[in-house]
Order: sequence, then C-alpha cells, then structure tokens
Amino acid sequence: MSLIISKDIHKNFGDLEVLKGVDLTVNEGEVVAIIGRSGSGKSTFLRILNGLEELDGGALFVDGQLITGLEKDLRPLRLKVGMVFQQFNLFPHLTVGENIMLSPVQVKKIDPRQAVTLAEEMLDRVGLAEKFHSYPDQLSGGQQQRVAIARSLAMQPKVLLCDEITSALDPELVGEVLEVVRKLASDGMTLIMVTHEMRFAREVGDKLIFMHEGRVHEAGPPKELFNNPATPELAAFIGAVS
Ligand code: ADP
Ligand code: MG
Repeated sequence: MSLIISKDIHKNFGDLEVLKGVDLTVNEGEVVAIIGRSGSGKSTFLRILNGLEELDGGALFVDGQLITGLEKDLRPLRLKVGMVFQQFNLFPHLTVGENIMLSPVQVKKIDPRQAVTLAEEMLDRVGLAEKFHSYPDQLSGGQQQRVAIARSLAMQPKVLLCDEITSALDPELVGEVLEVVRKLASDGMTLIMVTHEMRFAREVGDKLIFMHEGRVHEAGPPKELFNNPATPELAAFIGAVS
C-alpha cells in the first residue's frame, strides 16, 4: 500500500519558489534515499511530510488521509510521521530514558510505567539499553543520535524521516548510526532519508530520489541511477560527491 503520495507539491517562501511540483509515492516498508545539492528543497519537502511546513499547492496523502494545512490534520500527521534531524535536540537536563518517555507520556498520554518499558525497548533497538539513566552529555554524538532515533521510534510512527542525521558527526561515529538505520530498514520500517552517504543510499535504498531546483529530477533504483544517470545534473552531482 502507498503510505505517502505527494502530488505536485509546491512551497514558496515569500518570492522564492522552493518546491516547484514534487511528485513521490512511498510504499509501506520502502526505504527512500533523497540526494541533491544544498538548497534543492530536500529539507523543506521532509518538513512538509511531517507537518512542520504547510504546502502551498498540490496534494499530500499520508496513510490514506488527505493532509490540508488545518491543525486537525496536522496533529494526527505528526503522530504518524517521525523525524530525526542533523542536530539531536535532546533535553540536557533529562536522562536518556526521560527524553524518550517525554512525548509518549505528554502527547499520547500513556501510563508512565508503560513508558519506561517502551523506552527500554526502544533503547535496546538502538543498542543502548545500558544508557537509560545517563545524561546526553555523557554520551558520544553517535550515541546521542541513536537516542534521538529511539525517541522517534517510541512514538511508533508509520514512517521515519531522517534529515542528514550523520552530517554533524565525527567520521568515526557515522557508521554506528547508519548501522541502526540499516537494522530499522531490514525490520521493515518505512524510511525516507536525506543523506550524503552515497554508498549507504546505494546499498540500503529501494528507491533513490535526486532533487534538483525544487523538483524530483530523477528517481529510480539506486544502482541504476548511480551507474547510468540520465541527466547531466545527476551525473555532475555524483561526480562532485564521489
Ligand atoms: P536543502 O535541504 O536541499 O539544502 P532546503 O529545503 O533547506 O534545501 O532549502 C531550500 C531553499 O529554501 C533554500 O534556498 C533555503 O534558503 C530556502 N528556505 C528554507 N527554509 C526557509 C525559510 N523558513 N524561509 C525562507 N527560505 C527558506
Ligand atoms: Mg537540508
């Protein structure tokens, strides 16, 4: 089933047309990697998918539901669509466990004792079961990002959006975060990830999207696109990053 259908999505910031008609369909369990130059609209598109930005034109369906800009649509949308950012944004005064429990308790109103169990399970999924009582500043950047992933998973989203989640990390910490994402993918999580990690996109992605100047410029199986880019823009991009 198609979990996300984006049809001709437009977004402007003042006079600047940032998304000029983005079409994308994502099926349940699919891993979509989005690549493209800085400023091509990748983050804006992800932010629209989880209701952080309103769209100015086109249509978005998530899990069968048409999303308008109305708050009554955005609240359920944010529950269905999790997002992990380049910056981990953990609360420094809360333990790792408390960071993960916060939204399930405050937003979903689940029982705090149940939230403890949930947080333990999610931490285990990212390989950090023993860090429940640690504070964020006692962890490496890679571990903090894994906690941020666990925090998103605790809301049990239908799809997880990742926006350059390894870009702020020291190179030696990138692998452990990608390993967690790889495991989520093989567990069947629907993932849409903006990434600079071309090898990862190629190996883990079911579908590759090359965004260029606010549009999906090329889309298809990652290996095909990397081996045979159809447009000079994608060829130039691959040449520049590899
Ligand atoms: P990418 O993630 O591909 O680097 P972005 O989606 O962040 O691209 O940005 C696309 C364009 O939109 C850029 O020109 C950026 O400066 C502009 N932009 C993004 N967010 C805003 C905003 N809140 N206000 C004004 N311009 C924005
Ligand atoms: Mg971006």
